[in-house]
Amino acid sequence: MLIRGRCHCGNIGFSLTWEPDPAEIAARACSCSFCVKHGGVWTSYPKGSLEVSVEDPALVSRYGFGTRTAEFHVCTRCGVVPVVTSSIDERLYAVVSVNAFEGVNPALLRHAPASFDGEGTDDRLARRKRNWIADVRFSEAG
Ligand SMILES: [Zn+2]
Repeated sequence: MLIRGRCHCGNIGFSLTWEPDPAEIAARACSCSFCVKHGGVWTSYPKGSLEVSVEDPALVSRYGFGTRTAEFHVCTRCGVVPVVTSSIDERLYAVVSVNAFEGVNPALLRHAPASFDGEGTDDRLARRKRNWIADVRFSEAG
């Protein structure tokens, strides 16, 4: 299955290859202080491959906070956050926002809360290495 998503204005787009086709897609409502404020709901598939295309990199803010091990890619034109990346041992990992999906059957989404409060940085990075998309490429369309 090829899952496409984008921010509202289209500046940040992604396509996630998910093989074999998912029977369901975990949609994790993150309870961190940033995601609570913008309603962040994320998914990832460790065996998937993700291509992120950016039309105008000048219109992307990379926001980090707390441990600063994750970067939220915020479109500064429309305010949507389609992707989060984390660089671990020189490899880029990512999760994508299910809210940014285009044309994906919502019945596939299995919504669940996720709380990572109290998790130490080492545990956090180890979890991302296990669960996040490990094949991530960025391209600039313009
Ligand atoms: Zn946008």
